[in-house]
Amino acid sequence: MASSGRGRVDQAVPLVSSTRLDSLTDRLTASGSTTREITAPATGEPLGTIPESTPKDVAEAVSTAREVQAGWADVPVGTRAQLIEQFADRVLDRREEFLDVLQAETGKSRQTALEELLDIQSTCEYVAANGPATIAEESRSPAIRWLSTATVTYEPVGVVGVISPWNYPLNLAMVDAIPALLAGNAVVLKPDEKTPYGALLLAELLEAAGLPEGLFQVVAGDGETVGGALIDHVGYVSFTGGTETGRKVAERAGRNLIDCSLELGGNNPLIVLDDADIEQAARGAVGACFPNMGQLCLSAERLYVEKSVYEAFVEAFISETEKLTLGVEHSFNSDLGSLIDEAQLTTVAAHVDDACTRGATVRTGGRARPDVGPYCYEPTILTDVASDSRVACEETFGPVVSVTPVDSEAEAIERANDSPYGLNASVWTGETARGERVARQIECGTVCVNDGFAVGWSATDAPMGGVGESGIGRRHGPEGIRRYTEPRTIAVSRVGPLGLPDRLPTSWVMAGFVGVTRLRRRMKRAIRSVRE
Ligand code: NAD
Repeated sequence: MASSGRGRVDQAVPLVSSTRLDSLTDRLTASGSTTREITAPATGEPLGTIPESTPKDVAEAVSTAREVQAGWADVPVGTRAQLIEQFADRVLDRREEFLDVLQAETGKSRQTALEELLDIQSTCEYVAANGPATIAEESRSPAIRWLSTATVTYEPVGVVGVISPWNYPLNLAMVDAIPALLAGNAVVLKPDEKTPYGALLLAELLEAAGLPEGLFQVVAGDGETVGGALIDHVGYVSFTGGTETGRKVAERAGRNLIDCSLELGGNNPLIVLDDADIEQAARGAVGACFPNMGQLCLSAERLYVEKSVYEAFVEAFISETEKLTLGVEHSFNSDLGSLIDEAQLTTVAAHVDDACTRGATVRTGGRARPDVGPYCYEPTILTDVASDSRVACEETFGPVVSVTPVDSEAEAIERANDSPYGLNASVWTGETARGERVARQIECGTVCVNDGFAVGWSATDAPMGGVGESGIGRRHGPEGIRRYTEPRTIAVSRVGPLGLPDRLPTSWVMAGFVGVTRLRRRMKRAIRSVRE
């Protein structure tokens, strides 16, 4: 068995000082006596202690946010967009501190941390440039042309609750919070228990950029208690996390009759067709499967390769994977960092063991690397994986993938669709038209051709989200902005109240209505047939 993920063990000690981390906690709305110790995944050592919010704190945070929001909604949308741009500039200026905090609380590589930070820039740029037009009021077809009007305005929902996960704690919070703010809402963010510090730093910079104090708040603590309380008070909830939690969030949002978006898990397929450039597909598959140690909702875990190119692809994929470096250092030298914690490491190892018990072959990787970091695991490629193995059926959310040969394009599509999830898929081919044709048959929110996920995710004007157990709702694009608004229709009659003329017998008027309706429909059909 070959080993992948060359280890580096340089400088794992967090660069950010505990005094600085402690000072960030002043921004939390948390009055309770309960605290939570935060661990640095790179070392397994304590990083700091966070006071936890109580349900009463959550109610207070939302109430303050609501008061501030009223004034924010009156700020011209162009000014709101400018402040968002200023926030993006500040994040870029303070990138070293962000990278230190992000690495300290997630254990990810510095490269992955920087990508996350740059993604915040893309979100801010897109939302600031396109948000104002997206929520500008618009005229719609009126009830009676010339005699009435219909105008739609997009009103903020009020306070938006954002519940975010630990894997990309900064950009997954901001991709939901920034459009909500642009649309005139306040935001209360509940970050994952493991990663509160980056969220607090974001709050600091939003305020420094000129957003009113109290408009963006952070509450911290247990998901059920604090996250649940948040859903009880806000007007909309954006949730990113696991599918089972998503169900609970949807149930609670439903009880409160508020709308929500759920960005959930995936077990994403990657298809290599027989006409693909194998070297390019192998390099691309590494980028599709292993970023952030596979702890990425969009990353590929199930690879299906047409038989005629299977062996060549597997060899090239192994060779590219073995070039990856694994480390917990603070430079850009390591490609991969640590898993988030012991529980994630246990899941990853259990999935590999389960696959092996059912006959899988470990082609590279397959080992924990405590010599690098307590929760490090090698990027792992499995073949001969039974279709009922956990890696085939469940989301591993780690650096483990299976590669399976298929007889045909049709079988690849069938296997790709054989999952309750439907978040992201990718298709590799020498002919993009073929790739697009296959893509249209895959049941996922996003399908990328000749790229793993970046070409889809980075298209910030295009909606992103899942079907089936991968969630409901979309982020990015106009869809990701308008979800934070309540459309209001203002309809005006220029001729007084619409109704029956009182001087004529009702039966005549009714006959007239039927006649006019019939005439209108006939005319429409005639016009359509002339045009065709
Ligand atoms: P999780 O569902 O356990 O936690 C996510 C967030 O929800 C945390 O902030 C947590 O505190 C909170 N939470 C937990 N229980 C809650 C409850 N009952 N009510 C309200 N909030 C609650 O997530 P996880 O399993 O640690 O995160 C990884 C999962 O997130 C993976 O399945 C991954 O695929 C998914 N994810 C999806 C996307 C996406 O965009 N689709 C992005 C990143 C991660």
